Amino acid sequence: MSEHSTSSRPLALVIDDDDIVRLLVRQTLETAAIAVAEAQSGEQGLEALARVRPDIVLLDVMTSGRDGFEVCTEIRALPASQRTPVLMMTGHDDTESVNRAYEVGATDFITKPIPWPILAHRVRYMLRASQSLERLARSEARLAEAQRLAQLGHWDWDLASNEVYRSPELLRILGATPESSSSGYRGLIEMVHASERGELERALRRALNSAQPYSLECRIVRADGTQRVVHERAVADCDDNGAVIRIHGTTQDITEHQHAEQQIRHLAMYDTLTDLPNRQFFKEQLGHSIAHVARWSQKLAVIVLDLDRFKRINDTLGRNVGDQLLAAVSARLTQSLRSADHVTRVDPSPLPGNVARLGGDEFTVQLTGLAQAADAGKVARRILSALAQPFTLNGHEIVVTASAGIAVYPCDGEDADTLLKNADSAMYHAKDHGKDDYQYFSPSMNASALRKLTLESQLRKATERGELLLHYQPKVEIGTHRIAGIEALIRWQHPELGMIAPADFIPLAEETGLIVPIGDWVLAQACRQAAAWRAAGLPRVGIAVNMSSTSFAQKDFVAKVAAALDDAKLDARAIDIELTESVLMRDAEAARATLCALKEHGVGLSIDDFGTGYSSLAYLRRFPIDTLKIDRSFVRDVIDNPEDAAIIAAIIALGNSLGLAVVAEGVESEEQAALLHARGCTLMQGYLFSRPVAADDITIMLVTERLRRRRNVAA
Ligand code: C2E
Ligand code: MG
Ligand code: MG
Repeated sequence: MSEHSTSSRPLALVIDDDDIVRLLVRQTLETAAIAVAEAQSGEQGLEALARVRPDIVLLDVMTSGRDGFEVCTEIRALPASQRTPVLMMTGHDDTESVNRAYEVGATDFITKPIPWPILAHRVRYMLRASQSLERLARSEARLAEAQRLAQLGHWDWDLASNEVYRSPELLRILGATPESSSSGYRGLIEMVHASERGELERALRRALNSAQPYSLECRIVRADGTQRVVHERAVADCDDNGAVIRIHGTTQDITEHQHAEQQIRHLAMYDTLTDLPNRQFFKEQLGHSIAHVARWSQKLAVIVLDLDRFKRINDTLGRNVGDQLLAAVSARLTQSLRSADHVTRVDPSPLPGNVARLGGDEFTVQLTGLAQAADAGKVARRILSALAQPFTLNGHEIVVTASAGIAVYPCDGEDADTLLKNADSAMYHAKDHGKDDYQYFSPSMNASALRKLTLESQLRKATERGELLLHYQPKVEIGTHRIAGIEALIRWQHPELGMIAPADFIPLAEETGLIVPIGDWVLAQACRQAAAWRAAGLPRVGIAVNMSSTSFAQKDFVAKVAAALDDAKLDARAIDIELTESVLMRDAEAARATLCALKEHGVGLSIDDFGTGYSSLAYLRRFPIDTLKIDRSFVRDVIDNPEDAAIIAAIIALGNSLGLAVVAEGVESEEQAALLHARGCTLMQGYLFSRPVAADDITIMLVTERLRRRRNVAA
């Protein structure tokens, strides 16, 4: 319906040179609530058509000027009036005119003399039909647009005629034209990639025979050879007897969608450095493999590999070379696994995800279809020897070895997590036994106990093997810049794991009681070192040693300290023992006795990590303490955290009131030092002054200190 009439009455344009006819048409239609515009000639009619945009045209075949047929042809040629209904008024029995009227696009005709009583009905009927057509056309256009956006085509196969209708969008997806497409069954099958026709044929046959709908994904090949991935859905329609008469469906182009999905999946499932599956994907695949081999009562093995001393490569040649090495290792791993097929009769078409990078320098391999568990060892051996061949990266020839652990399904675990965990602990076992080798998981040993056990046995030997050493950190007096003391801090130089910090082995030493001999060694070593410095004529600064509560609780602790001092021929004042608050709290009476005995000898006593424990004034009064060491955690945040600053101020005030020295630990910045100094703390220790360093470095510091002191004396 034209714009002007949507809210008002429909408008009819009457084109007739007969005044009487126009008058009567007007009267009749207006009575039926239809507005009327008039034109006396063909030219006027076309002009009015463009101007008033009628909803219907009543056109006399015999108008003056251009006749009705010409006018009708023109009306149809104008895009705006292509669908406007045209009612031709012809002479009675003029069959030829009627035929011509239809030929030129008239919608209907009515003969003259006009049967006035039915004219309005006829016009109204035509208007209604035209509105329906208009709505249909609009809805089709909307549908086509939606289908274009969704890349959704549709087709309709009429079995009786064997014709297949294909929507324009479908033809676009297929890259085809109606002429280039075959009809019927063949036409539907042919559009699919040759290797996937079987599945579509089966689905189509089921639809034909039993009216089963189907939904499947397949590739199609366009005339230009490009491929698209489509999602096909179809349903069958039946007649009253249940016989299939028509199958119709949709074809949606999901190529881009699938591509994006694959990319996301790839990012989520693969390691970007090596392009190997990551832990997540590997576990998923392993889960599937387990389900498969469980059904066929087969064996499966998981190998976890870790490069030996990889950190050294990163540290010496840089991360870039380290990364390149990991990529090269992953390629060699995949390759060696391919050639291992015949060794073990491993599934000849390995699943994706057979090799994965678990993270860092740790890789994993799953072997399915194993005839016997021993075959996994053969594969591991082969992989290890493949990896042992030198790599050439950035002009460097790099030799790496790896250690491997093997866990076999079902005896070493029935799920992916357990198998991985057990293979991992077997790998650690291989590392502990000299590396460049593989180990089967041994179910009698719990993984973490195993690791601890080896670490413990190594720690036991560490003292004899001379793997323990002391580093020293100076304690500085702000203002004078004097070295006021030196704290001895233990390190474990592990032959494979490198330098191990106390936090990583002191707890184990405490748990196993090894802390006692270790503490003895620390005490003796610190005394020897202090004596050596004194013998060299260097300034006499106190050496602080940390003592664990277990050592401290030993009945002969005081005697041991005395013996260590004696052996080194050292004055007891040269030694300061650092204890934590918990030592004092455990058995207050015994602690007091020990402390008093030590004090009598002249040994200095410090409370380490002060502020983190009980920090009660009462015990500080009861015990003969010399020094409080403010815990590093308060110093760390002293600038930004007013609460920490307040605690520090309180500790300093407490120390001052009890006549105790106060040392701030972990001072890293000038700002922290200035703030602590402003609060009255003059003794500090931390990276700002020096990290814990080897004895030789301290010797240099002490030599400088001696020079400075002499200069001061001279001045
Ligand atoms: P601790 O006695 O409180 O030693 C201070 C720790 O803080 C040392 O860590 C030292 O390296 C670190 N440190 C010093 N200045 C700074 C700094 O400015 N910033 C930071 N972030 N850290 C700093 P280390 O050497 O790792 O020792 C840790 C703990 O292990 C020691 O804490 C001590 O409780 C224990 N320990 C060390 N040696 C021995 C020992 O011979 N026997 C016993 N039983 N325990 C020891
Ligand atoms: Mg300490
Ligand atoms: Mg401390």
